[in-house]
Amino acid sequence: MELEVLCETVGVFSENSYFLVERKTGEAVAFDPGDEPERLLAIIQDRGLKLRYILNTHAHIDHVGAVEALKEATGAPFYLHPAELRLLQSIPAQAAMFGLASPPIPEVDGKLSDGLVFRFGSGPFDIKVHDTPGHSPGGVTFEVGNVLFTGDALFEGSIGRTDLPGGDATTLLDSIRRKLLVFPDATIVYPGHGPHTTIGEERRSNPFLQGMS
Ligand SMILES: [Zn+2]
Ligand SMILES: [Zn+2]
Repeated sequence: MELEVLCETVGVFSENSYFLVERKTGEAVAFDPGDEPERLLAIIQDRGLKLRYILNTHAHIDHVGAVEALKEATGAPFYLHPAELRLLQSIPAQAAMFGLASPPIPEVDGKLSDGLVFRFGSGPFDIKVHDTPGHSPGGVTFEVGNVLFTGDALFEGSIGRTDLPGGDATTLLDSIRRKLLVFPDATIVYPGHGPHTTIGEERRSNPFLQGMS
């Protein structure tokens, strides 16, 4: 593939910050730049990446901590689902809950919505937005080719927690069933935490999804 996925696991929550890179042009998209902005900025600089968009699956503190630094350094616009705005504004409270220093709250430049498509690179490549709420009210998944960035909706062998403010277990399972399990088995899943997996593997062995499809 002419596209490359770079994964940097950052911060105390071991959050996966991703760059999707078109090798030929160096054009790139950042998904959930969560923490350790200096590490992420070093990758952008070393690889000479041209960052086009910062796209977030949701606004929990572990996923947004480096957004402002990347915006400032690259000028790339930041997109978030409007139903996540309350969570975004609660970053200082989220930080206090975990006894952490609060990262800056980034300004949102554009709204994500189900079916919205971002185009980047010389491919050009389409990034499609799918609403997958449940872990948080405005959680989304991004689809690019045969790859999904699911945030904290679906993990290898697990699913996102739903006990945080705005979380709902029934909604999350419904999102997974209707929006994620409809993809072919070979579809690669890059989650917000832990190793990557496939839709087929999770369909077969994820204990939370048994009997679902
Ligand atoms: Zn989360
Ligand atoms: Zn997370």
